[in-house]
Amino acid sequence: MFSLLNFNFKQPNINILYDFIIVGGGPAGITAAIYAARKNLEILLLTKDLGGQVLWTSEIENYPGFKSITAKELIEKFTNHLSYFPIALGLGTEVNGIRKEQNIFYVKTTDDKEYKSRVVIIATGRSPKPLNIKNEKELLGKGVSYCATCDAPLFKNKDTAVIGGANSAITSAIELAKVCQRVYLLVKSEIKAEPILVERLKKFNNVIILLKHLPKSILGKEKVEGILVYDLLNNNEYEIKVSGVFIEAGTKPNTDFLKGFLNLNEKGEIIINCNCETNIPGIFACGDCTAIEDKQIIIACGEGAKASLKGFKYLISQK
Ligand SMILES: Cc1cc2nc3c(=O)[nH]c(=O)nc-3n(C[C@H](O)[C@H](O)[C@H](O)COP(=O)(O)OP(=O)(O)OC[C@H]3O[C@@H](n4cnc5c(N)ncnc54)[C@H](O)[C@@H]3O)c2cc1C
Repeated sequence: MFSLLNFNFKQPNINILYDFIIVGGGPAGITAAIYAARKNLEILLLTKDLGGQVLWTSEIENYPGFKSITAKELIEKFTNHLSYFPIALGLGTEVNGIRKEQNIFYVKTTDDKEYKSRVVIIATGRSPKPLNIKNEKELLGKGVSYCATCDAPLFKNKDTAVIGGANSAITSAIELAKVCQRVYLLVKSEIKAEPILVERLKKFNNVIILLKHLPKSILGKEKVEGILVYDLLNNNEYEIKVSGVFIEAGTKPNTDFLKGFLNLNEKGEIIINCNCETNIPGIFACGDCTAIEDKQIIIACGEGAKASLKGFKYLISQK
């Protein structure tokens, strides 16, 4: 049975001057930590969870070496690998600010601690983007969800709706179709997902695909009872009775705490060069929180490795 209790990570310590602080424990951050650990550095990994977005899906079929592997198993393998090294891990920790004094970075967390490091690697990835429609916030956890992998079992034999038309929406619809009575897939324009996923979805006869449909509001007081949709082709709106609404409207980078500190693009993604360097020497960034266009596990891992190697080069140059 996989449990972090089986591992011997060191506790974070505010009195240590770390060589590297890595923020974020998804594929990018874990890889950066593994690479840094092999250089015998003093490392602290601060993260809300281990796994990041990979935890939101079920099956991975494009990570080399595994024709198909469950997301849980892949993250167990990553964590197991990480645990071979004597790094400090602050799990369940949220970073909410970074400041620089002379050549030292001070990384602040929401539990009011401040850790010190010579190098910082940001690997904070992405979070679901809200639709900002009526009742979305109010009914979150009461039928509104951003994670089909986590919540699909709660909707066994019920009707649900998925909003979105990209890979993550199709993946969610497939997850739900396995347990739900009916799944409505609401797509604003056309489906823009990998053909292999679309083929798989079409095998389920309990999925109703509604193209050119916009969600107007979520219905219900104590829990989700339906969704009001707008049919763009016929110019009319109508209600669909569902118990669950799964929002797959894209993601946004977890970089709010860096605004005004690091250079971000118009989407809020960290601007880096091909060496994962940000505008501040000593701060590197990697993975889905950056402006690198493609967001995939293997790419995040590669960028994490690069950030770590370049961070090490910077560290040596400072000594
Ligand atoms: C539903 C879904 C299915 C996917 N399927 C695939 C697939 O089949 N194949 C594939 O290659 N890719 C897939 N992806 C994309 C892949 O998951 C991402 O590209 C990858 O996880 C990015 O890794 P990352 O480490 O950059 O960021 P993330 O995975 O987002 O990890 C970020 C980490 O940072 C932590 N964090 C965030 N903010 C803070 C903070 N302020 N303080 C501390 N910690 C913080 C988070 O808790 C998390 O641990 C999928 C994504 C989704 C959503």
